[in-house]
Amino acid sequence: MYNLTIIPGDGIGVEVTEAGEYLLDKLDLNFSLTHARAGYDCYNDTGKTLPEETIKKAKKSDAILFGASTSTPGQPSPIIRLRKELNTYGNIRPIKSYKGVKSLYDNIDIIIVRENTEGLYSQNEYMRGDEIIAERVITRKASEKISEMAFETCKLFKKNKVTCVHKNNVLKLTDGVFKESFYKIGEKYPNIEKNDYYVDAAAMYMITQPQEYEVIVATNLFGDILSDEGAGLVGGLGLAPSGNIGAEHGLFEPVHGSAPDIAGKNIANPCAMILSISLMLNYLKEYKIAENVDKAVQKVLEKGKVKTPDLGGNASTMEMTKEIIKEL
Ligand code: ATP
Repeated sequence: MYNLTIIPGDGIGVEVTEAGEYLLDKLDLNFSLTHARAGYDCYNDTGKTLPEETIKKAKKSDAILFGASTSTPGQPSPIIRLRKELNTYGNIRPIKSYKGVKSLYDNIDIIIVRENTEGLYSQNEYMRGDEIIAERVITRKASEKISEMAFETCKLFKKNKVTCVHKNNVLKLTDGVFKESFYKIGEKYPNIEKNDYYVDAAAMYMITQPQEYEVIVATNLFGDILSDEGAGLVGGLGLAPSGNIGAEHGLFEPVHGSAPDIAGKNIANPCAMILSISLMLNYLKEYKIAENVDKAVQKVLEKGKVKTPDLGGNASTMEMTKEIIKEL
């Protein structure tokens, strides 16, 4: 029995979470689901974008599923706060091309492992007279931990190579440490190939030869930018899952936001959420079921008969979800 905390949030977050719960119910596993609130609607009702009660529930559970939240002006982002509270220091974002979905190439299969706690997301900005400064914090400890996660991810997904992305020709100290840590930790993984690129070259190769990559490890901002570039390569946000993983907690969420433009219409693509559930199942060591969920999504995309409007079809969120369940 797994205890899950479900945080639907706002907009299509609510719709894709409902689809996700529907799928969870059909799996051959026992889940106990606890619902919790976060986001814009929650703020309007409670005065908080992330109530303490939600954090408490999340900390007690085996894993957390998060839909999406609409940003609330002047208020902290619930997902950034939750990642911090749970110390999920690694963000895992697979970038995969699917048969039946328009993609720049048809054989892309990359996993980006992004450092989630420091870098330019340290949120230390200040003014010194005319200078406006944003601190970019890199520690050896976090760099080593994220490299370790990248090598372990490489093993788990039966891949052979990890590429470190940095800019240490310019950021000599900070990215010097990041790159050094990567090769130091890499010594523990002699059978995994290693290389590194400057982030500008890495971004270009993502377009010109993405097959070059298997697993990428990067600092916070570089990883974020490369992940969205990758999502654009393979069919957009409706197919992009993510996992935030730490030593004690796993928080899984589609990469997309609350999409106010299509919210309430029941046409959101459920795949990013369902693929996030597959990442969660891997985290819970339910490898076989995770693989089956992935395959079911692949089959529905390949057949191409039942798909949501963002993929060129006219199915609803639930129709596509049910089709995926049929393939399980
Ligand atoms: P937010 O303010 O919550 O970040 P946003 O609209 O700025 O919302 P996203 O929610 O990521 O950002 O959406 C960007 C675009 O991608 C929108 O046009 C949205 O409709 C589309 N989109 C995002 N997710 C999906 C999905 N699951 N299915 C279909 N279209 C999607």
